[in-house]
Amino acid sequence: MGTVLKGWKNLQAISISSVRDTLSGKYHSRDFIHARMEYLRSRVVLVGLLFALLTPLWTLMDWLVLPSWPAHLMAVRILSLAGLIACVWLAFHGHQRITRIYVLSGLVFILPASFYAYMLLTLSGAAHYVVLGYGFIPFLLVATLSIFPFTLLESALVGGALIALQILASVSSGTWLSAKGLQDLWLLSALLVVGLTANYFHLGLLLRLYRQATHDTLTGLLNRGAVSRQLGQGPVQERLHVLMVDLDHFKQINDTHGHSVGDDVLTRTAALFKAHLGAHDLAARYGGEEFVLILAGRSDAQALSFAHILLQQVQAQTFYNHDREPFQITASLGLAPCQPGQAIEEALMRADQLLYQAKRAGRNQVVTQESIPTVFS
Ligand code: GH3
Ligand code: MG
Ligand code: MG
Repeated sequence: MGTVLKGWKNLQAISISSVRDTLSGKYHSRDFIHARMEYLRSRVVLVGLLFALLTPLWTLMDWLVLPSWPAHLMAVRILSLAGLIACVWLAFHGHQRITRIYVLSGLVFILPASFYAYMLLTLSGAAHYVVLGYGFIPFLLVATLSIFPFTLLESALVGGALIALQILASVSSGTWLSAKGLQDLWLLSALLVVGLTANYFHLGLLLRLYRQATHDTLTGLLNRGAVSRQLGQGPVQERLHVLMVDLDHFKQINDTHGHSVGDDVLTRTAALFKAHLGAHDLAARYGGEEFVLILAGRSDAQALSFAHILLQQVQAQTFYNHDREPFQITASLGLAPCQPGQAIEEALMRADQLLYQAKRAGRNQVVTQESIPTVFS
């Protein structure tokens, strides 16, 4: 019974977190938001190009099949085609800002939908036969939703607009509330549900793969590659502090108590770091028993005080070996500031050298640059 309950709780935790993660982008990290934008950008290029290529084909079909084609519709169609080509071009070139990619993703849906809505609103009576060949547009666009890694709310918003478009089509063709009109609406809603389900799995999978690629599996902290990517290669914009932490004589813990006890030390120490982080700080497992913390928005004195508190907290932890005997650990810390305009790599190197100095000076201490007054020494 206990196992079943635990299994159910685990399942609940997994599904609640993935529904929350796929519902909106509110809980996505800055790095994932950028990664998702890259996926959206590639979809804008692909789908925009596909729609742009299909437009002349549809025009040819109309020319062959239909007896006449109103000139104003041709103008709107050319505008829509030009818009799609512009979307593809903009997704390829220029600054890839997040808002731009959002707008371009929306336009890939809005342009064909507007063309169809324009037809519905302007053609009536004898000219209405032209519209009939375009009744597939809301269905095509709802199906296209599943190609994009949209959140459920984003897809629901586009889907709702497409259902409104279908209602407009039914009203203008006189099938609203008829069996045919309701059947079309039902089919579109069912397709939307399938699309939302595809979005849920699509975005959930991207998130899971992203987490596996950027987080250390043992401690749950970011890995080294993810930190480099989040901070970028160039100069930093704001003043930061880099705190490099290495556990002392960790090999002895493994050798004396075994690897599983060593793993417990790493996991609990990482949890301690996480508990002390501010909203804009970062913590990563840099190597085996080496961690890096990037502290934001602190003065030199505050960063140094933070490093000393962290050292005390590391010392205060009690671990137990397999014979339930308690033991404690210590760490060596190197703290280096990174001024706006300086490269983070350079500060990481300095922090590493300071950490090395702390090791040579006897371990279990914080070493910082001479320019920072060591108020605690
Ligand atoms: P120092 O005080 O000079 O840092 O000595 P140290 O023993 O901490 O450093 P050393 O580099 O000699 O040893 C680090 C050890 O960390 C060696 C390696 O087996 C262990 N280690 C690395 N990754 C893991 C891990 O994921 N789990 C466990 N249990 N041990 C690990
Ligand atoms: Mg060590
Ligand atoms: Mg080490």
